[in-house]
Amino acid sequence: MSSFQKLLEFSTNSMKPLTKEKVKALHFVRYQWDRQLQQIEMKYYDKEFLQAFNWTPDDFDMTVVGPRKCIGHFQDSYYYPCLRHSSVTDFPQCYKCVSYSIPILKCIFEPICWGDKCPDSICNQPHQVYLAFFNTIPKIGMTSEQRLKLRLYEQGADAFSIIATVPNRFSARALERNISVVLQMKESYDPEVILRTFTREIDKKVIEEKYSLIYTSIKDRFDLKCSKLHYVDVYPLDLPLRSMPILRPTLGLHNGKFVGIKGKFLIYESKGLNALRLNDMLGQYMVLNSS
Ligand SMILES: [Zn+2]
Ligand SMILES: [Zn+2]
Repeated sequence: MSSFQKLLEFSTNSMKPLTKEKVKALHFVRYQWDRQLQQIEMKYYDKEFLQAFNWTPDDFDMTVVGPRKCIGHFQDSYYYPCLRHSSVTDFPQCYKCVSYSIPILKCIFEPICWGDKCPDSICNQPHQVYLAFFNTIPKIGMTSEQRLKLRLYEQGADAFSIIATVPNRFSARALERNISVVLQMKESYDPEVILRTFTREIDKKVIEEKYSLIYTSIKDRFDLKCSKLHYVDVYPLDLPLRSMPILRPTLGLHNGKFVGIKGKFLIYESKGLNALRLNDMLGQYMVLNSS
């Protein structure tokens, strides 16, 4: 019996086992570290019970199907599904559901205001520009000051240093872009590049050599002083993995045994190691395959 079924049976005694006649699609609506940064919460919404349940995968057997729909929003630990049932593409919330956290969706990626158009949102909060390492691979990033650790955990960073703290999101994005161009440092990587790092021990010597070079460049070119390097070792995944996981398309069949999570990747065992992108799962539907 899969963990979904166990969970559903736990949720209701009257729940019948899933059969081919009764196919049920559960909406994957959350993948986030909890407030204490202790563990990752994954939730799906079951419209039959009008509730969001925790997903704690162990052995699982499911087919992920589209079309991708808005994940609604969470507020004060309550979940509110999207009333419009809107279709979404790159970002998992519609403009209405995202408006509970920010009035202008565009400001999340490429801010177009100084906080004046989004006064009570992240646009108007102090931000940090940071250097992150995925094993020995450096990356530049920015996030609101209060989300820094959450952001690094979401991405699966192994080490980080804060480059600067600025008063709003617009300034942070401008500095991030500028450093990226001047130092030729990437803001993101293809999934395979990150997955390959899962097969190696963390090489602190190389990380520290690269950090030292970047520290000097940022001081010389921007007159900014990087904070000391901090290591992150919180992920529920035993590393290094014996082989590089194969990135599976999000839509389609996924069955096997849960191995762990690092950053946005859920790793599972099924005739070898496989990776599922949790950020891409947001808004998709999970159909449990009956055993
Ligand atoms: Zn919505
Ligand atoms: Zn804004």
